[in-house]
This record gives sequence, C-alpha cells and structure tokens, in this order.
Amino acid sequence: RAKQSGRATMRVFEPRMDIELQARKALEYDLRQALARNQLEVHYQPLVELENGRIAGVEALARWRHPEHGLVPPSSFIPLAEDTGLIVGIGEWVLRTACAQAAAWPELRVAVNLSPIQFRHSELVETVRQVLVDTGLAPHRLELEITESVLLHDAAAAREILTALKETGVFIVMDDFGTGYSSLGYLNSFPFDKIKIDKSFISDLSAEKSNAIVRSVIGLGQSLNMITTAEGVETPEQVEFLLREGCEQVQGYHFGRPIPADAMTTLIGGWTNDLGEGRSAA
Ligand code: C2E
Ligand code: MG
Ligand code: MG
Ligand code: MG
Repeated sequence: RAKQSGRATMRVFEPRMDIELQARKALEYDLRQALARNQLEVHYQPLVELENGRIAGVEALARWRHPEHGLVPPSSFIPLAEDTGLIVGIGEWVLRTACAQAAAWPELRVAVNLSPIQFRHSELVETVRQVLVDTGLAPHRLELEITESVLLHDAAAAREILTALKETGVFIVMDDFGTGYSSLGYLNSFPFDKIKIDKSFISDLSAEKSNAIVRSVIGLGQSLNMITTAEGVETPEQVEFLLREGCEQVQGYHFGRPIPADAMTTLIGGWTNDLGEGRSAA
C-alpha cells in the first residue's frame, strides 16, 4: 500500500519535473545559439556623482532578446550560463562590447560584471588586457565588478588575480556589498577601489538597522579611501540621506534605468548639455 501511494506520488511529480527539465534544456539550447544569432545586448545604467549630479560612468548589464520570450533579464539566464560554462564566452562578449562602446563615449567609465567562473578562468587577465588593446579604451575607464563570493574559496588565488588585474590599470569594485559574507577584512586585504552597497539596504533605509549599516559602510569607504556607490536608489528621501552621509556615487531608477546604447548616447549628450548650460548660466 505504502509502495503504491509512493508510486502515485511519483506519477504526480514526474511529468512536471519533466516539463521543467525540458524547458531548461530548451533554454540552454537557445542560449548556446544566442551569441552567434546576435540575440545578446548590453544595456547601460548611469552611475551618478551625488555632489554635482554629473554622470561618472555606466554599468553594463546583459540582456537576451529571445525570439519567443522577449527580453530575458540576467537573473533568468546568467545562472544557466554559469552552469553550462557559456558564461566565459558571453562574459567576454559583454566585456568587449561594453569597452568598444565606452571608447566611443567621452570620458565615461564603464563597469562590467564578472561572474565567479570568469574570475577563476585562467585566461581572464589576458582577455582583459587584449580587449583594452583591441578597443583602445584607457584602462582607468574600465571597472570590473566582483562579488564577495569570489574571495571565499581560495583567498591567495583571488589576491593574485586581483593584483594582476590591478596591474592592467583597471578599477576593481566590490559589488552587492553586505549580501555575502561581508568580512571587513576583505576590504582591507584586497585591492578594491570602490564598494557598491547592495540595493536591499537602500530600499530598506527607513528601517533603523539598514540606516546604520549604510552609514557605517560609507564611513568605512571613506576611511579606506574607496569610493562608495549606493545601488537601487529610487526616491528623493534616499538621495537626501545618502547626500547627508557623504556617499559619493548613486545608481538607481531615480536617476535612470538601464537602457540600450543608442538611448544612452542621447542621454549623455543631453546630460552634458544641461551641465554646460548650468555652468554658463552661473
Ligand atoms: P548588479 O550587478 O548588482 O546590477 C544592478 C542590478 O540592479 C541591475 O539588474 C539593475 O537593473 C538593477 N537596478 C538598478 N537600479 C535599480 C533600482 O533603482 N531599483 C531596482 N529594483 N533595481 C535596480 P539586472 O540588469 O537585472 O541585473 C541583475 C544582476 O545580473 C546584476 O546585478 C549582475 O549580478 C548580473 N549581471 C548582469 N549583467 C551581467 C553580465 O554581463 N555578466 C555577469 N556575470 N552578470 C551580470
Ligand atoms: Mg554590478
Ligand atoms: Mg550590484
Ligand atoms: Mg545587485
């Protein structure tokens, strides 16, 4: 009897598992073709200097324009790309595309996310060097964003990679700070230039605890000589708080959503003009 009901349970679950697995396999199949079929895009979101409202740079964010599913967000395909190893090729394409694009924009920096798998890939440093040479982007205009998780397993290896990356002249950014293990020691013992405070703390700023955390991370950044960027800034109240606490950079829907390269080119033009007008009026 027990065996029977067990079997019945299996029968209930099997077909659904099958469908999920099939959907995943289909998506994986599609993702393998995505690069060759020109379905991947890079969108750009402004990084704004809080003190003067100037656009200091942009973050490059991958998008997949799927023929049936429409615009697929990275949360739906980056993990799949990581599981299948496709992230190495996709990541290099994003890096190259973003650097070439940034080279065509005046002065702006471009921030590119590195997956832990890319980070550990033996050719990472050489790829970064080669992309900078090929695109002609000055190294100081490239920021590489990594998360705390890459520092966890083998700190010595991570330090070696980060040091080699620093030697190419690029900026190193700790992304999503506060969501991982957040050992303060990491900040001290690795060559980070910037800390990005995760958006979960910014959206929760009305709570006293998040308030205190954000305040102390900004202070930490200041005393360690790192730039602090707040992610996910959506409201004037959040802007006010961050300004008061001396946060240097902000990123979020309040200032601009991620948009395609063409739209960003237009935005940069308008943004620069506004500043120019502001200056000549003053
Ligand atoms: P991330 O690096 O922390 O990027 C910031 C994410 O926050 C982006 O989501 C951005 O659209 C979103 N965001 C920005 N401002 C706001 C806001 O005001 N409110 C809210 N709710 N969200 C905001 P997106 O583009 O969906 O990317 C999600 C994550 O996927 C990224 O988080 C990054 O970890 C990963 N990712 C994106 N592109 C790449 C890539 O080319 N390579 C790798 N390895 N990972 C990528
Ligand atoms: Mg990022
Ligand atoms: Mg982030
Ligand atoms: Mg994040």
